[in-house]
Amino acid sequence: MSLIIFAIPLFFALILLELWLDWRKKTNTYQFNDAVNSLNLGMMSQVTGVAYKTIQLSFYVLVYQYLAPVHLTAETSWGVWLLGAFAFVAYDFCYYWFHRMSHEINVLWAGHVVHHSSEEYNLTTALRQSSGGFLGFVFYLPLALIGIDPLLLVTVGSLNLIYQFWVHTRHIGRMWGWYEAIFVTPSHHRVHHAQNPMYMNKNHGGVFILWDKWFGTFQAELDDEPVIFGVTKPLLSWNPVWANLDVYWALCKDSWRTAAWRDKFKVWVARTGWRPADVRKQFPNKVYNPYQQVKFDTPLTCAQQWYAFFQHLTLIAVVLYYLLNAGQMSTPQILAGCAWLVFQLFCLGYYQQQRPGFQWLELIKNLALASVSFSVLSASALFAEGATISAWVIPAAWWLIATVLQGYSRTQMPASTAINSN
Ligand SMILES: [Zn+2]
Ligand SMILES: [Zn+2]
Repeated sequence: MSLIIFAIPLFFALILLELWLDWRKKTNTYQFNDAVNSLNLGMMSQVTGVAYKTIQLSFYVLVYQYLAPVHLTAETSWGVWLLGAFAFVAYDFCYYWFHRMSHEINVLWAGHVVHHSSEEYNLTTALRQSSGGFLGFVFYLPLALIGIDPLLLVTVGSLNLIYQFWVHTRHIGRMWGWYEAIFVTPSHHRVHHAQNPMYMNKNHGGVFILWDKWFGTFQAELDDEPVIFGVTKPLLSWNPVWANLDVYWALCKDSWRTAAWRDKFKVWVARTGWRPADVRKQFPNKVYNPYQQVKFDTPLTCAQQWYAFFQHLTLIAVVLYYLLNAGQMSTPQILAGCAWLVFQLFCLGYYQQQRPGFQWLELIKNLALASVSFSVLSASALFAEGATISAWVIPAAWWLIATVLQGYSRTQMPASTAINSN
């Protein structure tokens, strides 16, 4: 079973610990907008995952049921542990190849870029996950063929992801030699998130760094080459929808614009960064030097940050409610809830960038959120006849706080001019 939902309290506890360390050591590894955006992207990934991961898993189940010559099972408790350990290692092997290909092939990179588009590196970066990556399940089908039960696959898959969480920190230097030799560590994974030319496309392992050492993609972190985090085509946006579409859109444009029919297809499957010759000539990439990185930000006043933080906490609560209740929802409810939450996440990014009309959008969205919460709560057993408080109290109190905070944030110094990007 998926253990991620149970790990969420641990994730937040460690994020708070890292924030405290950051404040104590004055290391400045957090930037408000970036951290909020990373968590927004993580929530969006979980929400959209509810809608499409069942379809991916059903492919796995079909292969497991009809094509696998044997189904691996264990009778004794030792056998269960052995099978679990085997599945865990086999999963990481498949993960290595999926992850490596996600860096080396244009269309797979389009799905994976979200995880790398932060220019910071902290525990929130770990949760910055893609809502795309629809093709990833293909890399795990060999596990179905060798007879690994779907339930076991989901369990080891979630353990793999949970392991990857803690390596996203700048607060842990090099670890013990034996550990660095076998497992992925914060140092290894910092290299993976780098845009320094010598570090790019290295250290793809999820749990074991051995795959990189064996298949020639290992690079140690060097003291004289500090890591510069981010991608060579910066996203320049807090819009979580755009973060997921950016590279797909660039590939669509290149595919449409090229005159060569062969290249219209090739652009999708070619090595990451490859562009048709005619398009490259007509629409050249901007010259970019990672060593002169200027991190993207849109300064918000203190009051605006509080307002954004309040909205962010609300979204965390609403998304958790959705994830915990998705099992009892019908397909139309799942899809409607998903679209609704994506819209909410989009609104927060829009606010962070102070895009034109953001105040109006917030007013409408807050009213809509209070109304939807009221209708969901009034249908819930908690607020049935005889409950201590009526179902309208929470949405009304929330709406009042949101409106007061929004009004207060407008009395502060205006934020800097809107950033004109998507
Ligand atoms: Zn990666
Ligand atoms: Zn990472």
